[in-house]
Amino acid sequence: MILFKKATELHKWLDFQRKKQKSIGFVPTMGALHTGHLSLIGYSQRENDITVCSVFVNPTQFNDPRDFEKYPITIEKDIAMLEEAGTHVLFLPSVPEMYPDGLQATRQYELGFLETRLEGAFRPGHFQGVCRVVHRLLEIVQPASIYLGQKDYQQCMVIRKLVTLMGKEGSISVMVCPTLRETDGLAMSSRNMRLNEDQRKKAVTISQVLTAIKQQLHTGDLSALLNEGQRVLEAAGFRTDYLEITDARTLEPVTNWNGTQSLVALVAAFMGDIRLIDNMVLTQNNTD
Ligand code: AMP
Repeated sequence: MILFKKATELHKWLDFQRKKQKSIGFVPTMGALHTGHLSLIGYSQRENDITVCSVFVNPTQFNDPRDFEKYPITIEKDIAMLEEAGTHVLFLPSVPEMYPDGLQATRQYELGFLETRLEGAFRPGHFQGVCRVVHRLLEIVQPASIYLGQKDYQQCMVIRKLVTLMGKEGSISVMVCPTLRETDGLAMSSRNMRLNEDQRKKAVTISQVLTAIKQQLHTGDLSALLNEGQRVLEAAGFRTDYLEITDARTLEPVTNWNGTQSLVALVAAFMGDIRLIDNMVLTQNNTD
């Protein structure tokens, strides 16, 4: 594995690879890697000649400074995992390398409803920070495909929108890969390592609630399903930011289902000070 810390050096090396007709797959991460991240590396490796993984804890996407301070950093282990997975390139930039003009935003990304619904509403500025860092990463790496996890459902929509805003729909494919889960169903997440034993046991409730909603989905009024899910989350000790069933494309809440609209259930909830998110597509046969 080749490790780059400087954007210009990585850019130059990748330019050389592209001239040799090598296709480049890109997996952006914030480190504290787990099997979910490695599955994205696997998809990229199968579909590209070269896989670039970035590890960068992006300060501008943390609306809560305490969340940023407590974000797990396990870089030695990350490097070992990436080596073991046969990753070709690791990009490990510093903050000044990613933000040469400073952290102050100079541009506003027009994300429309994505910034007013769900994560957009509960984490003001979060998706602007995501767009800033991914925009810069995409300019440096210029991949044929970027690999993202469905675990961050709304973020996948944001990055699709970003690629459109960059005028790159034709040249960068956005690949959304399935959410990897622990054996009890908890969606893998870097934040899970902050859960204590008791919290870890209770955390499974999130995926249980989503599974119950999927199993009990019916046409008509869905409010009882949501109320029951909310009750179960609270009983397990969660403080819920949201639990919603929405249109899979517009993220508009669906309170009365006509049986044909594509649906996704999304949840964000705190266990102590640890915020977990998860989602399940309700109306397709998929691995969820
Ligand atoms: P993060 O390091 O948490 O910012 O995540 C980096 C990428 O890994 C994002 O595209 C996430 O959606 C994806 N990811 C995180 N958790 C999982 C998971 N459990 N399964 C699949 N992909 C994931």
